[in-house]
Amino acid sequence: MNLLHFLASQPLAYLIAATLLGLIVGSFLNVLVHRLPVMMNRQWRDEAREALELPAHTEPRFDLFLPASRCPHCQHQIRAWENIPLLSYLCLRGRCASCKTPISPRYPLVELAGAGLALFAAWHFGFSASAGVLMLLSWGLLSLSLIDIEHQLLPDVLVLPLLWLGLIVNAFGLFVPLQDAVWGAVFGYLSLWSVFWLFKLVTGKDGMGYGDFKLLALLGAWGGWQILPLTLLLASLVGALLGLIMMRWRGQRASTPIPFGPYLAIAGWIALLWGGQITTFYLQPGF
Ligand SMILES: [Zn+2]
Repeated sequence: MNLLHFLASQPLAYLIAATLLGLIVGSFLNVLVHRLPVMMNRQWRDEAREALELPAHTEPRFDLFLPASRCPHCQHQIRAWENIPLLSYLCLRGRCASCKTPISPRYPLVELAGAGLALFAAWHFGFSASAGVLMLLSWGLLSLSLIDIEHQLLPDVLVLPLLWLGLIVNAFGLFVPLQDAVWGAVFGYLSLWSVFWLFKLVTGKDGMGYGDFKLLALLGAWGGWQILPLTLLLASLVGALLGLIMMRWRGQRASTPIPFGPYLAIAGWIALLWGGQITTFYLQPGF
């Protein structure tokens, strides 16, 4: 009996395997979220130097694999046993093995989130292709949200492949018919693009970034055009609410940019999974 057959016939083993996979992927997402913006920055700088005909700047290699991870405080190189998701953090009691500086709880939290999303997808869809692709989408949206919060960036290198993947999975009708997915991508992009230009014409300011249009196109490609109104509504509600709380709490001015990406990501993810039920519930006669 091969591994796939085993997992298909043993629900508990399948859920455990999905959770472990999620922990490992979560550990990789920590690297991705930290390094991708740095890599993009370097690339822009290199391109700018080239355009300005300045001599090329040679820097040591920096990508998702090299250099090896180090403690930001003492430069101690993280050994393999210190890099086991969650377990290492617990064994080291949240401190660097060498200099004992506290390690940010963000690392184990992202690993836990990666595991939680995988476990949810496995539980929600059972042993199926839908579960596998929902894991990919969820990890992708998690990474995008974290990068957007920290850098106000939604990298094309993550958004565009996920958009294509949405169209591909729906070519097999996994979530919605392909036709709905294509219009979802088109109207997802155009709706925020129109809001952006309207806002700019009226106020002269940029209200959001082009990354947000592409992110909504991505969500439309997965859930079809039907999820767009609910996604926008949920994202605006949560965004407005959290925005108000942040303004009160941190005393931020209303003009401080608040990334819209994480709200869109969460709202779209919810709408993809339960959009049908939520809409039917609210449109019931007599409600
Ligand atoms: Zn250290």
